[in-house]
Amino acid sequence: MLKVKAMNSHKRSYSRTASLLILAVLLLLPIRALAQDEPELRLRMSRDMGYSSGTGRIEGTFSLKASGPDDLLKVVFLIDGQTMGEDGEAPFSLRFNTGSYALGVHTLSATGTTRDGRVLNSQEIRVEFVPAEEGLKTAGRIAIPILGITFGIMLLGYVLPMIIGRGKKSSLPLGVPRRYGIMGGAICPKCGRPFSMTLLGLNLVAGRLERCPHCGKFSLVRRASPQMLRQAELDELQMATAQPAVSELSEQEHLRKELENSRYDEL
Ligand SMILES: [Zn+2]
Repeated sequence: MLKVKAMNSHKRSYSRTASLLILAVLLLLPIRALAQDEPELRLRMSRDMGYSSGTGRIEGTFSLKASGPDDLLKVVFLIDGQTMGEDGEAPFSLRFNTGSYALGVHTLSATGTTRDGRVLNSQEIRVEFVPAEEGLKTAGRIAIPILGITFGIMLLGYVLPMIIGRGKKSSLPLGVPRRYGIMGGAICPKCGRPFSMTLLGLNLVAGRLERCPHCGKFSLVRRASPQMLRQAELDELQMATAQPAVSELSEQEHLRKELENSRYDEL
């Protein structure tokens, strides 16, 4: 460190190189330490089919795999010190089902033999064999709330507008040109007015269940073409002129004029 400090005061580039070197050494030290601790025979376990809690609670079919030096001849797989099976060929592996053993905590390990007769012991893997119901229960704990939330949101999408918006209708005046959004527009078979389809609409075979914002009624609709929607908007105008609400008359007239003007603007 003294040397580094001395260099520091003389040349900045040297000090940078030195600190990089120190950093490299510090980073490599734990890796070397780990490499020394690593057993000559390495045991791994993977799930083939079944349940694994991620904390060692398992149920189902699993595989043990052992890897070691190139001259490894044979590997014996053990559960609580008792032989589960052996493999005389690389890759050294053993498939097992937790159902073949008692429930509870077990220690899995492996012993390898090399060509020159050396015996290598793997590290131990501690697991707990749990009943099949635990896996199902855990899956249920995850899946059921998700399903519940999904249905809840769908239900809210229908029920809320019905409760809150009962009798409440869109105040959009007749004949007003509108944008229909990404879902496109549909024409209400009940009141004949065009409206934007919503993301909440429910797709059914015969069409899409949507609530018309104008009359508030639910009906099965299909996405209408822009021409049809435009025609429906014009039909609204017809409705407006045919039977205008007294209070809306002046507003309707005003909007109609605006519409006429905008139509010419577009051309
Ligand atoms: Zn309607």
